[in-house]
Amino acid sequence: MGVAAAVARHKELHLTATLFSPPAEEVFPAPIKSVEVGSPAERAGVRPGDQLLRVNGQAVTDVLAYRHLLSQGKATLEITRPVVLPFFATPQDHHKVKADTQAQTFLFDVEWEDPGLEFEEVLFDGIKKCANKCDFCYVHQMPRGFRKSLYIMDDDYRLSFLYGSFVTLTNLTEGDINRILDENLSPLYVSVHSSNQELRQDMMKWWKLKVKDQQATQIQGMIERLSSIDLYTQIVLVPGRNDGDHFDETLDYLTSRPNVISAAVVPIGLTDHRTNLPDVRTFNKEEARDILKRANVWRKKMLAERGTRFIFPSDELYLLAGEALPSEDEYEGFPMLENGVGMIRDFLNEGLPALPKSLPTPRKVILGTGVLFAESLDLAVEPLRAIEGLDIEVRAIENVTFGKVTTVAGLLTGRCFRSAIQSGEADLLIVPPTTLRYGTELMIDNTSLTELSGVLKMAVKPGGSTLGELARVILDDAQSSGPQFGMSAHAAKENARSNEPFQS
Ligand code: SF4
Repeated sequence: MGVAAAVARHKELHLTATLFSPPAEEVFPAPIKSVEVGSPAERAGVRPGDQLLRVNGQAVTDVLAYRHLLSQGKATLEITRPVVLPFFATPQDHHKVKADTQAQTFLFDVEWEDPGLEFEEVLFDGIKKCANKCDFCYVHQMPRGFRKSLYIMDDDYRLSFLYGSFVTLTNLTEGDINRILDENLSPLYVSVHSSNQELRQDMMKWWKLKVKDQQATQIQGMIERLSSIDLYTQIVLVPGRNDGDHFDETLDYLTSRPNVISAAVVPIGLTDHRTNLPDVRTFNKEEARDILKRANVWRKKMLAERGTRFIFPSDELYLLAGEALPSEDEYEGFPMLENGVGMIRDFLNEGLPALPKSLPTPRKVILGTGVLFAESLDLAVEPLRAIEGLDIEVRAIENVTFGKVTTVAGLLTGRCFRSAIQSGEADLLIVPPTTLRYGTELMIDNTSLTELSGVLKMAVKPGGSTLGELARVILDDAQSSGPQFGMSAHAAKENARSNEPFQS
């Protein structure tokens, strides 16, 4: 469609290719990933790789501000096409490119219409970093050598609103607080840890110079000021610090605030890489039981008063305490799965599919998981052991990268699997899907499943996020292929003994 036709169809669209002199204030060029076909932006000549500079003459810091400006009706977008110069470019080249760039800066208007732009990033001005040095910070205990993004200490309320990441609020400015309220950035996810100001400060140790507004560090004041914003909160418990009566005090406060929706309770996570960090330890069984006992008193009270259990202890606390997990209903829709609250119940929820009596070819399958979950998984897969020809072993994989103290499945690395499993000892290794970076087949140490498969000389697949999915992965694999790297010793023996047909 030509520009003239576009203007005729959209009365409010005015396209002007224009010479433009940028004002002196700071702008945050936002690279454009894609342009919707037939959209105002496409009709204006905008292409992927161009950069948004301003909306209505204002610099834009993120997609939320961008959408907010568009939601007010008429908006003028200013977009430029950057030119990359080779390193040997002369000052004359720079001068020429500046003129060319100006000639390729576009202004166009939309009114109550989506311009059709998708951006490379949601934040145009970069991630806001935290102002704290928490005693229990996981980033401080990370071994070296992983990808850079794992070391970023982000504490950005915009990511909290967009993706549900927890923020401490201690780095907010007065402008940020007003923006949250004005744009109604609700819900937010807030790490509280303690409602006692002195104790919270002692555990989080925010840097005076990094805190921009002292009132942002006052947790009770902030929860009350954000009274129109729903808050999902989190308490990271540290033995001897904020547990016991301090825990009750925090729950007493949080349950009294109408805008606080829930409180997830998780124990401190440790690694063996705590050089020059405060001396902290994990909870023992009795301490974990005490936490659950206290939480249960509040859960009952809140269920009677508000119709929600409000407090949701993480799976790890139940496993540490050796207590039964709550039922599916008690998780109230699993809103905190990402925080390790209800993952196991959710996993067990979808039961096993109809199982065959035997496999066409004997298979030895290792289910690799973290030490913490191994016993529960072993019990859950027991019915699969009745399938003739299927030899299933749940193997508790010790974390040789983060250290023995790290027992959760999600932090297992390729190195952990390599050190716990011998080459060729099974036909199939199933790894927890939580060990893989979202949308990839890469583990946290960048080991790919293909690479691991080559080293271990067995097929390697991610299991499902439910028991039913896990069973289907095992059964589909058994039906679709024989051993891929020659048989494991076990499978070879079984195959010699029996060649019975597959029965379902
Ligand atoms: S807020 Fe605390 S735990 Fe989070 S990144 Fe900062 S120092 Fe670490």
